[in-house]
Amino acid sequence: QAVAEARPAELDASKLVITLAESLKPLPAPETLVFGQTQTDHMLIMNYDPVNGWSAPEIKPYAPLSIDPMSSCLQYCPNVFEGMKAYFGPDGKARLFRPRKNMERLARSADRMALPPFDTDALLTLIERFIQIEKRWIPAKPGYSLYIRPTIIGTRAALGVTASDSACIYVIVTPTGPYFRGGTKPISLLAVSESVRSWPGGTGGHKLGLNYAPGFAPQRIAAKQGYDQILWLLGDDQRVTEAGAMNFFLIAQRDDGDLDIITPPLDGTILPGLTRDSTLTLTTAHTSGKLLLPDIPASQKLHTHERILTMSEITALSEQSKILECFGVGTAVVVAPVGRIGHEGKDLILPVHEAGLGPVGKAILTVITDIQTGRRQFENWSV
Ligand code: PMP
Repeated sequence: QAVAEARPAELDASKLVITLAESLKPLPAPETLVFGQTQTDHMLIMNYDPVNGWSAPEIKPYAPLSIDPMSSCLQYCPNVFEGMKAYFGPDGKARLFRPRKNMERLARSADRMALPPFDTDALLTLIERFIQIEKRWIPAKPGYSLYIRPTIIGTRAALGVTASDSACIYVIVTPTGPYFRGGTKPISLLAVSESVRSWPGGTGGHKLGLNYAPGFAPQRIAAKQGYDQILWLLGDDQRVTEAGAMNFFLIAQRDDGDLDIITPPLDGTILPGLTRDSTLTLTTAHTSGKLLLPDIPASQKLHTHERILTMSEITALSEQSKILECFGVGTAVVVAPVGRIGHEGKDLILPVHEAGLGPVGKAILTVITDIQTGRRQFENWSV
């Protein structure tokens, strides 16, 4: 007689167990928030082991984790994460921006680290439930949001150098204010090629914890020299990859009056940012007439190019006065204008615009924040 083989359980959102905190923490004044420093009342957590599969997910009071000191994540770094936000709109509803994209990227990161797979729809359902519970932590002020940090760590409790067959997914949230307070201010970048963030065949195209720590020492050196962030270069031709933890865009004037929107291609060395994708989609929508970007003439076409961009090309475009603006994009900042790039001992000064951002950056910032807060609808991006 055939005996059904027991299979490890799938991640199941309907098994969620909720234990609420007995007392709630006082809410800090939004103006005093420092990014990533406020712990809220609850956390979402679930564990995987190869015999039982995914445990019943739990929302419970925020507390330290208890893990074996041999845990894989503390030794070989199978740690992956996501960065997303919940926003309040004028209608008082909490919204997420393209959250499926974050879940897909998280699943790809987990797969790259040979961590156990999980059902991305189930995790999103759980995150939505969690945000409903932590909703009072979303500051109801323009530019403020609740930053969400889904994390997966390998918890195999043994020192053998091998894939972690056990894992913990946990999600924490922290209220956050606008990246720029008191107006958008152009940032400065130090172009660095001695240290590289990512390389062909490496892991830069995934959101892995191990991609970030190696950037801390170079970042400290850049800060000592008076630069805000690093412009990460790669290869003998000094290709631009990313700006700090943002994707990089250069907007160039064309002879026919149109604009070129240039960003490095997703060749495995670039993190496929949601804001990068949104910027490309919105500029393309302007050109096709599907959505007109504010204060950009309908007749002005925006030609998008995902292609290699080298420091010598940026220098040449700057000398020909063809650069309209450069900016970095990412969930934290949305759009950050770049005012200066330090390269080989010299500073490349980029055009100055009133209000910090140039026309394209400003239009992208306006449209994305309008979609995030539900003021504007586009492609069901806001959930
Ligand atoms: N590059 C890196 C290295 C990042 O860490 C981030 C932040 N996730 C980004 C780019 C921007 O990605 P996103 O627009 O999805 O936030």
